[in-house]
Amino acid sequence: MPKKIPAYGAPAAKALLVPMTIERRDPGSRDVEIQILYCGICHSDVHKVDNDWGGTHFPVVPGHEIVGRVVGRGANVSKFHEGDLVGVGCLVDSCRECPECRAGHEMFCDRDATWSFDSLERDGKSWTWGGYSSRMVVDESFVLRMPKDLDPARAAPLLCAGITTYSPLRQFGCTRGSQVGVVGLGGLGHMAVKIAAAMGAEVTVLSSSGGKEKDALRLGAKHFLCTKDPGALDASQGKFDLLIDTVSAPHDMDALSALLRSFGTLVLVGLPPAPTPVNVTGLVHGNKRVAGSNIGGIAETQEMLDYCGQHGIVADIELIRADQINEAYRRMGSGDVRYRFVIDTSTFGT
Ligand code: NAP
Ligand code: ZN
Ligand code: ZN
Repeated sequence: MPKKIPAYGAPAAKALLVPMTIERRDPGSRDVEIQILYCGICHSDVHKVDNDWGGTHFPVVPGHEIVGRVVGRGANVSKFHEGDLVGVGCLVDSCRECPECRAGHEMFCDRDATWSFDSLERDGKSWTWGGYSSRMVVDESFVLRMPKDLDPARAAPLLCAGITTYSPLRQFGCTRGSQVGVVGLGGLGHMAVKIAAAMGAEVTVLSSSGGKEKDALRLGAKHFLCTKDPGALDASQGKFDLLIDTVSAPHDMDALSALLRSFGTLVLVGLPPAPTPVNVTGLVHGNKRVAGSNIGGIAETQEMLDYCGQHGIVADIELIRADQINEAYRRMGSGDVRYRFVIDTSTFGT
């Protein structure tokens, strides 16, 4: 019998989130049943509820930065035991056979990945429900081991904000002495600062909020530029090896690519709803690159968690109750987040 689970979700586009009851399948032979403890709020959850990208299937229960304890497991589960602290990110399944899956890029599965919410299950019929809920059932291959020494509430955002910034920093060669700029100091941005600094980069934060300077330096940045100050970027033209752009709203990409040195890369991880024009000439003169990066596969996510465990990297969070989710969404819409809201899911009931 499927279990009835308390959750929070949006009944329609741009609606307030309300308490809901969802059903989860009984654990199959390779499934892990997880009591969710904490779930971060990523701006992608907000985009989905607002239907910014189109195609959201309502009602929707968001949430893909999930930390919890194993409370049940199928007969053939080998990696996890009851009581283990585990994580679930954006991915909960994929075909596991196509070249993308075999290469560890499950998010690009040729037969479509199954995302942790608002996605079709492998049966092609039922929809997934995310982590704003108190229990979840996930195939063990998509469950991550949480490092023991990290505060679980503060580690939850690693499951999306952590991997989404770790992956491009690794892909595009961030190393000791690299000049790295992080654009937008929100959930993703503040993780990018911490991880790039741990990798030995000299980090500059480029923020539209002048009031975030002190925090940027505390998080590990060496320099801070307020993008709204006239002339603030003038002295940094041609400076950066790598820019990680996490901004969730439309903004001027040309002003950013001008800051790259030759052969430098502007990596877009933010997903503004509207298309953004790019001046090709500015890129050609300097062999500059504009790239995108989408989360990271399961093996790389485990690598990132282990790296953060070794370096003591966690998010700066505001821990909230279920009844504060709508206020958190409102604040994220105006860039007012310091630096990740995390829901204490014990406030949903059991
Ligand atoms: P967030 O916590 O809300 O931070 C976004 C930051 O963007 C804000 O803190 C703000 O920083 C900056 N910003 C600049 N102009 C803004 C405006 N008009 N409105 C709101 N913010 C503005 O968001 P997040 O969770 O880090 O996510 C950032 C983006 O990445 C979202 O679009 C999200 O969907 C996307 N995302 C992508 C992936 C992927 O795999 N590529 C994964 C997760 C999320 P300042 O105040 O410093 O300017
Ligand atoms: Zn996310
Ligand atoms: Zn596949």
